[in-house]
Amino acid sequence: MPADRGDHKVLFTPGPTEVDPLILQEMARPVIGHRGAEMQEIIKDLIPRLRPLFGSRAHDVFLTACSATALWEAALRNCVARRVLVPVCGAFSERFYEVALACGLEADPLHVEWGRSVSAQAVSDMLATGRYDAVALVHNETSTGVTNPLREIGEAVRRHGDVALLVDAVSSLGGMPVDVDQNGIDVCLASVQKCLALPPGFSICAVSPRALERSAKRVGKGYYLDFVRLKGFFDRNLPMATPSVSHLFALRAQMRRIETEGLEARYARHRSLAEQTRAWATRRFGLYAEEKARSNTVTCVANTRAVDVTRLIAGLALRGYAISNGYGRLKDTTFRIGHMGDHTPDGVRNLLGAVDAVLEEGGA
Ligand SMILES: *Cc1c(COP(=O)(O)O)cnc(C)c1O
Repeated sequence: MPADRGDHKVLFTPGPTEVDPLILQEMARPVIGHRGAEMQEIIKDLIPRLRPLFGSRAHDVFLTACSATALWEAALRNCVARRVLVPVCGAFSERFYEVALACGLEADPLHVEWGRSVSAQAVSDMLATGRYDAVALVHNETSTGVTNPLREIGEAVRRHGDVALLVDAVSSLGGMPVDVDQNGIDVCLASVQKCLALPPGFSICAVSPRALERSAKRVGKGYYLDFVRLKGFFDRNLPMATPSVSHLFALRAQMRRIETEGLEARYARHRSLAEQTRAWATRRFGLYAEEKARSNTVTCVANTRAVDVTRLIAGLALRGYAISNGYGRLKDTTFRIGHMGDHTPDGVRNLLGAVDAVLEEGGA
């Protein structure tokens, strides 16, 4: 029986994003125990299906019942022994840096003007000091709508020897390629409520042999997200502790839908939704991100008409849609439209039409 959707607003927020009713039904399946053959079958089936998303043939893949913020801690605590460099180009990368400090690690930010992408050359110059054994990078900065040049940064990191590359692919995995093997990524982590369009509260990561070697030598890395401990369980297709079983059902179903669409088609759809949104935003407002770095999963609209963003969001809510205000210090000077997950051109057209209607009515 379909759930009562009440006054649900279709989510064009850059996380969480709209969840298909079929996936919500998967979440409602009867719970099963997590130490039985049934669970092992689910995990055994899921891991190889997740590999193409990451673009890795051999990394260990872990399924974790926490949001991606916890995996920031995991990546840092398992892999950083000396000092980590954190390129900071927006609010999420700034928080990644703060998490490093909160974990008691030596860390330096590499500040980049917001709206611009991280330069591989700048990363390379910092690594040339020889001070760092890791780089913690946000691939797609959801606060500014910027995608960082992962390939170039990956190449820069590789040139500097034993430096681990820890990548937050929270708002890119499933919406654009991350190419873990090709880009030499040691830890690639993501929540499931962004481009994978699942309910929030679960995350996945791919972990390299080098990351596991580092983890084996680390003390004080904690228990719950110790990569070596996780591997011990996932090698037997078992979760480490009680997982969110409902998310595993939902992820299994969503992976089948993603496979049916095809990854290349999925990436192309995200690209085209982004182009559609950017064309509209350019006509009506402006774009916050520099041209070469504009994200295919989230558009950060520069509020050049100085509309009242709070009223715009309220007006859209009456029409059944949710978008997001600017993040942090960009709260009123930008607003953000998430076009990630399972959205379609028609859906985006209807949303943008609703924004136009609110503006024309003088509702913002
Ligand atoms: C949403 C987001 C996060 C935080 O993820 P949680 O699932 O809320 O922990 C981290 N990084 C980026 C780039 C994000 O978009």
